[in-house]
Amino acid sequence: MDRVIGIDLGTTNSCVAIVEGGIPKVIPNKGGYKTTPSIVAISDSGRRLVGQMAKRQAITNARHTVYAAKRLIGRKWGSPAVLHSLETCPYQIVEGPHDDVRIKLRDKAYSLPEISSIILQEMKLIAEEYIGEEVTQAVVTVPAYFNDGQRQATKDAGRVSGLDVLRIINEPTAAALAYGYGRDDLEARVAIYDLGGGTFDISVLEVHDAVFDVLSTGGDTFLGGEDFDARIIEWLVYEFAAENEVDLRHDDMALQRMKDAAEKAKCELSAVKDTEINLPFIYTKDDGEALHLQRTLVRDKLEELVEDLIQRTLKICDQTLQEAGLSVDDVDEVILVGGMTRMPRVQHCVQEFFGREPSKNVHPDEVVALGAAIQGHALMDEESDVLLLDVTPHNLGIGVYGGGFQVLIEKNSTVPTARSHIFTTVKDNQTSVKIIVLQGEGKQAKDNDLLGEFILHGLRQAPAGEVEVEITFEISADGIVSVSARDLETNLEQSITVTATSGLTEDEIEAMIEENEEYMVQVKHSEEMENQRANVRRTIRQVEKLMPTVQQVMENSTLGKDALRKAQDALERAKEALEGRNMEHLISTGEALNRTFAVFQGIVQRMQ
Ligand code: AMP
Repeated sequence: MDRVIGIDLGTTNSCVAIVEGGIPKVIPNKGGYKTTPSIVAISDSGRRLVGQMAKRQAITNARHTVYAAKRLIGRKWGSPAVLHSLETCPYQIVEGPHDDVRIKLRDKAYSLPEISSIILQEMKLIAEEYIGEEVTQAVVTVPAYFNDGQRQATKDAGRVSGLDVLRIINEPTAAALAYGYGRDDLEARVAIYDLGGGTFDISVLEVHDAVFDVLSTGGDTFLGGEDFDARIIEWLVYEFAAENEVDLRHDDMALQRMKDAAEKAKCELSAVKDTEINLPFIYTKDDGEALHLQRTLVRDKLEELVEDLIQRTLKICDQTLQEAGLSVDDVDEVILVGGMTRMPRVQHCVQEFFGREPSKNVHPDEVVALGAAIQGHALMDEESDVLLLDVTPHNLGIGVYGGGFQVLIEKNSTVPTARSHIFTTVKDNQTSVKIIVLQGEGKQAKDNDLLGEFILHGLRQAPAGEVEVEITFEISADGIVSVSARDLETNLEQSITVTATSGLTEDEIEAMIEENEEYMVQVKHSEEMENQRANVRRTIRQVEKLMPTVQQVMENSTLGKDALRKAQDALERAKEALEGRNMEHLISTGEALNRTFAVFQGIVQRMQ
């Protein structure tokens, strides 16, 4: 059976898992950690750095280091999330060619799917190293509240990274899968409260006989730990300005240092009541005077700074329960997912809201990847009885004459699903009809996300209301939308896969795949070159160590002198090859020196 990995592509951290012998398991990275920072950087030599390596150099390379890219994926230029990020991120966010967003790193503007693809590729490599063979298939998770554009962009990212994304699944649903997997007797209504680095999701599911049936889902794709950190940064900036009359927000390096310190303080305050934030030499004044930032942050103050953010999550919980026609008493179990649920105030508020203590049986950082791996395994295993019935998080419909929005598939409908609707022309002799595909909860067309638009031409000329067009909307199990329209009289049909908000054309994706493959070949080549160099350096050291002893023996005969000269030649040639970039030359000179070393070893052994 082909191996399928499960990847939790998180805002702050990513995690990869696999099912082995029926047991889901998180795969640690090279450093032994089970999660990898979702950070990508480009070094001044043009090298891609990912994960811990990228995080380590973030302060000194803030402008070319991207974190929290997931908050921007699938977003339109000018949207509130993008405007907010423009103000707060030290990296350079620029407008893309399709009303989308790009990030400029060194001399290239990267699309968001490209950035995410670099993280996915790292997770793929972590899995391959562990399994010992190539992995090409994955299930990737997204926040339940992601819209079509964000889902498509994530799928595109998978393609660019060389992964066939078999299924996109929702993070809270994945968590429920991991929670209920193997517990055949579990029959419960479960609420998953998922507060991660960048997004908040709440899903309510009914679990019975290995069936995971999502009843309703809600969330906010711009509400997470990053916002908690931002509140601490704002507080630091304010306090520093009050004391020194200096605004630190325009200093990239200071911002990055404050961000690191804010997150660290926030995490520490989950365990202790107060913590020190100490950032020496944060600013140098024009007259050369160095300023330092030093503050004590107490847990109560942190809670005061973020209380409204926590309350926003509870409001969404309330609404989501209402949409499912449930009250808190109908929920049997509450599960906390996402790093932010380690914060005591978050735990307290969730417990108070649901009136029950959340379950402590899941690991908040790993459970989503485990669920993705379980789903991947189930997709390949025909005997698997795991059945996932997820829902679409948003209304889906079309813009109608006069600026209205006609909903065709309501939010919380189980996917996959399809719905058809017959529309009639509104003007006499109307020969074409424009279909505007929208997603969202707004009453008017303008209040929803535009997924795409297409035109059906060649309608029969007739009085208004006579020509009928049937429009069919389909949402796949991934939550991805496709739409088709058919003139019922001529049977003329057109379909689109909605691509507007992902911002990438098919040609661009193909070009990115090619570029990525070329980059990987180069990386592999330079890694091999480094390995070969290390081998040759080692052999040089070994030969040089034995040289004085061997010289004593060989210098006494003509034959020996000749052999010695050859050995010295081999040594010189290997040293020369080390300076160059020719791999074959390096390998052949290395092999020649290895033979010399073998001869030297033989001589030395005979002397002993
Ligand atoms: P996730 O997206 O699930 O990896 O969650 C990452 C978020 O959880 C980040 O904002 C982290 O700062 C936050 N986080 C991780 N550990 C803790 C902790 N002990 N206390 C508070 N927040 C935490």
